[in-house]
Amino acid sequence: MRARLGDDIDDFCVKCKRVMNHAVVSLVNDEPAKVRCRTCHSDHDYRHEQPPPPKVDPRKAALFNQVLENVTGGVPGTEGPAEDKVTAAEEETA
Ligand SMILES: [Zn+2]
Repeated sequence: MRARLGDDIDDFCVKCKRVMNHAVVSLVNDEPAKVRCRTCHSDHDYRHEQPPPPKVDPRKAALFNQVLENVTGGVPGTEGPAEDKVTAAEEETA
């Protein structure tokens, strides 16, 4: 089956985060190259109904856990008394 411009086609919409009804807006070798979401009207490459792979960066995840650990189970810091520098503004009223 050859796709034509304006054809209705199912594809995964990144904005809608689900497979939505799309219209073909660009063709390459009779294959949909770009599609437009009928719901949010955003153009994107035809992705054959495949959702984008989840972006899980193991290093980032580890870093995040480390930060979380520091915040929740860290050694309580020795906080000295905060020195409040009170600057008395001297106003002279002549
Ligand atoms: Zn959409």
